[in-house]
Amino acid sequence: MSDVAGLFIGGREEAGSGGTEAVNNPATGERIVDLASASLGQVDAAVGAAERAFPGWAAMSPKERSIRMLAVAQDIANAAEELAALETQNCGKPIGDARAIDVGNTVDVFRFFAGAARTVTGVPAGEYRGPGYTSMQRRDPLGVVAGIAPWNYPLMMAAWKIAPAIAAGNTVVLKPSEHTPLTALKLAQICAAHLPEGVVNVVTGNGGEVGARLVSHPKVRMVSLTGDIATGRTVMELVAPTIKRTHFELGGKAPVIVFDDADLDAAVATIAEAGLYNAGQDCTAACRVYAQAGIYEALVAKLEAAVKAVVPGDPLAAGTVLGPLITERQRDRVDGFVRRAITDSAAELVTGGSAPSGPGFFYEPTLIAGAGHNDEIVRREVFGPVISVTRFDDADQVLAWANDSEYGLASSIWTRDIGKASRMASLLQFGVTWINTHGVNATEMPHGGVKSSGYGSDLSIFCLEHYSTPRHVMIKH
Ligand code: NAD
Repeated sequence: MSDVAGLFIGGREEAGSGGTEAVNNPATGERIVDLASASLGQVDAAVGAAERAFPGWAAMSPKERSIRMLAVAQDIANAAEELAALETQNCGKPIGDARAIDVGNTVDVFRFFAGAARTVTGVPAGEYRGPGYTSMQRRDPLGVVAGIAPWNYPLMMAAWKIAPAIAAGNTVVLKPSEHTPLTALKLAQICAAHLPEGVVNVVTGNGGEVGARLVSHPKVRMVSLTGDIATGRTVMELVAPTIKRTHFELGGKAPVIVFDDADLDAAVATIAEAGLYNAGQDCTAACRVYAQAGIYEALVAKLEAAVKAVVPGDPLAAGTVLGPLITERQRDRVDGFVRRAITDSAAELVTGGSAPSGPGFFYEPTLIAGAGHNDEIVRREVFGPVISVTRFDDADQVLAWANDSEYGLASSIWTRDIGKASRMASLLQFGVTWINTHGVNATEMPHGGVKSSGYGSDLSIFCLEHYSTPRHVMIKH
């Protein structure tokens, strides 16, 4: 078992004195630990610690902040095996992915934002108002940032919340998902070795009480949430009385548009990988496939073979690519989507569609063909290892279908025609569009959505703009 206590406040671990949350291993269904959540008073104490730490951290030179963040990144890299094992145990993701992607990206994100902290520049000072008045622009941090993270990439999402916020000079209170708090608490331990006390705090507990108290706190100046659209709506209401800046990375339902002239084998291999990655619990999952009529039958047949080749297994075993879903509830939810798709619409189940026997919250990789654009399985985020395929006739039709969605996070186009790809990419209403690939991020590039998928960028230099504010200082002379 992990040696984490419940909370991390003001540079110290402490046990929670709120209600208890069971933290489970989704691959076995067994309990890892019962973790006492933060009480509401402890949430307030964490905000207080972050508030006290703010002036000193904000005043520190970007170089000094950067050096400390680089030291954090190195310690994360040094603890890679421990963090990966803990992530796999708590989240069910294959150990190879936890090591390479979750820990690897976390290190990279801390390194990137350590560098980015030193690059922020403003417009030159000048006499914009006229002679005798010199204006300059500052970009300053906001204060205490509440980071609210989901369960699908617990360590990575903690890093995506903490690193840009502290690089910009803010202090943070992070609330990880109640299902997956363990690696975030480890990360807080690592941060505490290099950052002044109170710069990074972690409170654990559920969203409705602990999360709600945190985001509503009058001393919290910004809320950065990655989660469900419904949670985004609730948080927006909760912050209204205290007028806070918000940064929302919400759900997705990525269209994957495969034209007749695509490299079919490449498309199929990528769809199977990016549709089933992290057991489909990914906001950019390649789950909503549109196949043009000329290759529709071939795509379904090849994808059936590719999906069948993916076998759920022990996430700690080398070579496993598909682990369990996070909870039994999530598995039931996914199964409900599949059942309704095959009973309430003309869609057919090609493969999968049930939970294998045995312990853990596994679900078979599932392919549904013949789905209509208005079917629930095409329109709603399933967050499981389920891919649907819909037939389309021409570019205008598929463009309209792809954009006819409340989601606007990720999309991909598969074609050998660069002109068609460019036109489609310019008209798709999504934060990211991949051409002839899917699901590949770069820390230097913005990651964020449009429409109900949220706003603001995680990653990239632009992210720092969301975690800081431009100010005008004028000197009369
Ligand atoms: P969720 O919305 O249920 O929970 C996310 C976090 O919000 C948790 O920490 C939860 O405790 C907290 N929360 C819930 N209610 C709250 C409240 N009233 N006040 C404050 N905090 C509250 O989401 P989840 O099930 O953990 O994660 C899955 C969702 O996250 C999916 O919709 C997925 O698409 C989305 N996601 C988006 C991105 C992205 O980059 N856009 C990345 C990963 C996950």
